[in-house]
Amino acid sequence: CGIIGFTGYTEAKKVLIDGLTTLEYRGYDSAGIAFYQQGTINTIKTTGKVSNLAEKVKALDTLELQAESSCGIGHTRWATHGGVTDTNAHPHTAGKVTLIHNGIIENYRELELLLKKEGRNPISQTDTEIAALLLDSLYEGDAIKAIKQTVELIEGAYAFCILFADQPEVIYSLRNSSPLVACHTKEGSIIASDMVALIDYSKDYFVVPEMHIVTLMKDKVKLTDLDGNLVCPRMLHVTWDM
Ligand code: GLU
Repeated sequence: CGIIGFTGYTEAKKVLIDGLTTLEYRGYDSAGIAFYQQGTINTIKTTGKVSNLAEKVKALDTLELQAESSCGIGHTRWATHGGVTDTNAHPHTAGKVTLIHNGIIENYRELELLLKKEGRNPISQTDTEIAALLLDSLYEGDAIKAIKQTVELIEGAYAFCILFADQPEVIYSLRNSSPLVACHTKEGSIIASDMVALIDYSKDYFVVPEMHIVTLMKDKVKLTDLDGNLVCPRMLHVTWDM
């Protein structure tokens, strides 16, 4: 229901929790983040409010996850498929892929049957995890190619932010119907489901065109079509303050 992604030069966990708090006006039942730390992806998720998630993150911060993180994704969930449980909360991980999703994968049952035949079994009841399993099954190191193959197979409305375990500090994102806006600033690159989550960082942003892929890196944001051809984003400027 709410999406945020950040890669840059400040503490990502803080940017993500602040972003999710800003997006709280939308209804939701669970929240979660995934972030790179010391080379691996860590996921923290829970049912309930963003403040529950923030407490969980803080508790871990004082233990083993003290190190800073500069890249991650965050989500608030409004359950459509699968009950309101910690396991069903996003992010979802399958192999090298960790992702968050707004929307609905209409044909997830058919895809689930195909994946199960290959021995790829979901651990949650969500439609979202099926997209993660499918993308991981198609990923051989070329993210854009695997994303294209995945969206050719899935039907529905979606916005995704995706981390690949072997591409630290990079976020891939795309949408079909569900909203996504992105910007780049001195502090890094940021993407969200609503401009209100970006306004603290930049007043210049672009609306992600449907079926295009945004690659967020610390020092730049790249927009391409599904074949990887560069596309120039149409920049917009906000004239209001929060
Ligand atoms: N369909 C997904 C789920 O139930 C995503 C829902 C959302 O947009 O928050 O987990």
